[in-house]
Amino acid sequence: MKELKALLDGKTTSRALTEACLARVESLDSTLHSFLHVDKSALERASSVDAKSPLAGLPIAVKDVLMVEGMPATCGSKILEGFMPPFTATAVKKLQDAGAIVIGKTNTDEFAMGSSTENSAYITTRNPWNLDRVPGGSSGGSAAAVAAGIVPAALGTDTGGSIRQPASYCGISGIKPTYGRVSRYGLAAYGSSLDSVGVLGRSVDDLVPLFEVMVGKDPLDATTVDAPTSKGERPFAPTLDGIKIGVPAEYFVKGMQAEVEGRVREAIEMMKSLGAEIVPINLLHTEYALPVYYILAPAEASANLARYDGIRYTPRESEKSLQDVYRQTRGKRFGAEVERRIMLGTYALSAGYYDAYYGQAQKVRTLIRRDFEQAFENVDAIAAPIAPTTAFEIGKHGGDPLSMYLEDIFTLPANLAGVPGLALPVGFDNDKMPIGMQLMGAPFSEENLFAIGRAYQGATDWHEMKPNV
Ligand code: GLN
Repeated sequence: MKELKALLDGKTTSRALTEACLARVESLDSTLHSFLHVDKSALERASSVDAKSPLAGLPIAVKDVLMVEGMPATCGSKILEGFMPPFTATAVKKLQDAGAIVIGKTNTDEFAMGSSTENSAYITTRNPWNLDRVPGGSSGGSAAAVAAGIVPAALGTDTGGSIRQPASYCGISGIKPTYGRVSRYGLAAYGSSLDSVGVLGRSVDDLVPLFEVMVGKDPLDATTVDAPTSKGERPFAPTLDGIKIGVPAEYFVKGMQAEVEGRVREAIEMMKSLGAEIVPINLLHTEYALPVYYILAPAEASANLARYDGIRYTPRESEKSLQDVYRQTRGKRFGAEVERRIMLGTYALSAGYYDAYYGQAQKVRTLIRRDFEQAFENVDAIAAPIAPTTAFEIGKHGGDPLSMYLEDIFTLPANLAGVPGLALPVGFDNDKMPIGMQLMGAPFSEENLFAIGRAYQGATDWHEMKPNV
């Protein structure tokens, strides 16, 4: 990463970089609306950072669903208005301990539920490539802030695509790690069996230094695994000789935007010309990912969001009776999409329906996971589009939640299977909106994905394109 290199080489200081980031927020964010909170004390922290630490005072932004002590955390929801978390998420803490400076919290769909960041209860983030379009979601604030050059990297979370899809819509790179590779402690839980914390940056080179710091076992998250950070299992090579890349037929469907398919196929051709062997594969249960996800994620959400009850954390809307506190607080302070998910999830978990919906969805999830296991017996990575379209106009899916859910068809399977996904920019459509491709890998193979992504970016310059903001 060029900012980190400049810091480590003593060519700039953390204070100077942080000042530049804050100045850019100041000049751009009244238009972009990517930040929910900007922390002016970042400058003081930047001044006192150890320039010899691994991240040497690198300024970053953090999605508002992750807790950072000293900064409000709303999760994009009115139910957490004014909440000050008394602790910091492990992933953020590790970055801070390595010398990163958090300059603020970025906008998100309420509790990360959405694909456009329009479900934030506070602001509507704009896509820096076209201010009338969404940045994607739910990590839309982080993606817009990186694409607009406000920060060199930002944290996001991905439960069903929320790092990869906004990266794709904003023309940047992003890593959704293997489930359990990065601690979820201090992340406001959405779908606990699907949630993962990752990084957005302009290029693969910008993701790696943060990823390497964030990974590892955390006693505060029992699902974390101590997979060694091999610092590049496949060391960076400019060619892809010996690499097999699977291309799943199920990810090229009728109705998807032709330019998306076109650019992704060109990117696959480029990897072939770099030496990769391209293998047609099948992930046969892909079509079930959408219904399975939209049962399991709301079911887990309905349980996780029960804690926002007007007693803890939140402003209270009534003093009458306990029932009334719950009813008024939750009724008035959750947005429509969150209410919809809670109702869907509660229904799917209720007695008499549990087996038919939740139980059945879990079984089909296993079939989706097996599709990936079988595929990775033969290929090193799977290349596929991230979303069926480029960034859509703000308000386009407003009255129709189902049509919004359809934007997620290509990203949900990786979360259901728990595998990592790397988003890479691969070109533009006729309206000059960015298009992304994802490389999915076997669990704990992020280093391989990075090596492939670096080779691709070594041969192309899509990751160097910047919007005019
Ligand atoms: N768009 C998906 C949803 O609404 C995924 C969101 C996410 O990954 N946080 O649930």
